Amino acid sequence: MIPVFKTHKALTAHLLTIKTNSHTVGFVPTMGALHKGHVSLMQTALCETDYLVVSIFVNPTQFNNASDLNKYPRDVTKDVSFMTANLNTTRCCVYAPDVDDVYGNAPIANKYAYNGLENTMEGANRPGHFDGVGTILEFLFKVVTPDKAFFGEKDFQQLQIVKSLVRQLQLPITIIGCPILRENNNLAMSSRNERLSASARKEAAFIYQSLELAVNYFKKNSMLATQQMIVKLYENHPTLTLEYFIIASEKTLKPALRKSSKNNYRAFIVVHIENVRLIDNLKVS
Ligand code: AMP
Repeated sequence: MIPVFKTHKALTAHLLTIKTNSHTVGFVPTMGALHKGHVSLMQTALCETDYLVVSIFVNPTQFNNASDLNKYPRDVTKDVSFMTANLNTTRCCVYAPDVDDVYGNAPIANKYAYNGLENTMEGANRPGHFDGVGTILEFLFKVVTPDKAFFGEKDFQQLQIVKSLVRQLQLPITIIGCPILRENNNLAMSSRNERLSASARKEAAFIYQSLELAVNYFKKNSMLATQQMIVKLYENHPTLTLEYFIIASEKTLKPALRKSSKNNYRAFIVVHIENVRLIDNLKVS
């Protein structure tokens, strides 16, 4: 049985016994509705550390859209069964608090600056999002005090922001990025996919196809020309709506307006279908 803690005090007491045996702790923060993408992070954490803590918490302060927050799937019992079935380990526990265990009676975000990483893409399109992410992760990092924490490249901007957060708070935590797990049709696995009809799931395969097209097109064309090509592609699409597309430096997340062989680039996209917001990205090789 995987132990589940509802309060940070109970989790801290449990982790004391783990740490007195000088075991290293790996941490995978999630918002639940777990899928194989989350499991891949947990498996990496179990390979790299002695004991795994998974948090399951739908963090209200990182949602700028009340309806998106309300519709976010929540079922901790199902998530823990899913972990039990997929991990086959006793070296882990779950922290699944209620909002008041984290925020008291005032779920309010602190303000953070991340060297400009927060001013583009998700930061620009979801005001306050990365303040909410910083607030919950600062809290969780201080409660769990992991040696290593594991984040998916699916949320690549978040991954870079978390590295910046840990640097500025001077926390002794190594942040590890893990590759994106995809469905058979290459749709990036996501908790939000649960809200899609079967036909929308099929159509959403177009997101990865368009990323591949863009990455190839960018080899011989500028970033702006590539962006125009992608905008046109989605203008003609019957069900998918483009929110943004950009090719940017992996390190600074600044748009690739002038290509340099010194930079690694990535194509980033957000698309809507059936009122569900889907995010994806692909490395430019
Ligand atoms: P979430 O529950 O959506 O907040 O995601 C929790 C963690 O899982 C984040 O670090 C995500 O980037 C990561 N993640 C979500 N989907 C995937 C995926 N398809 N492949 C790999 N990691 C993922």
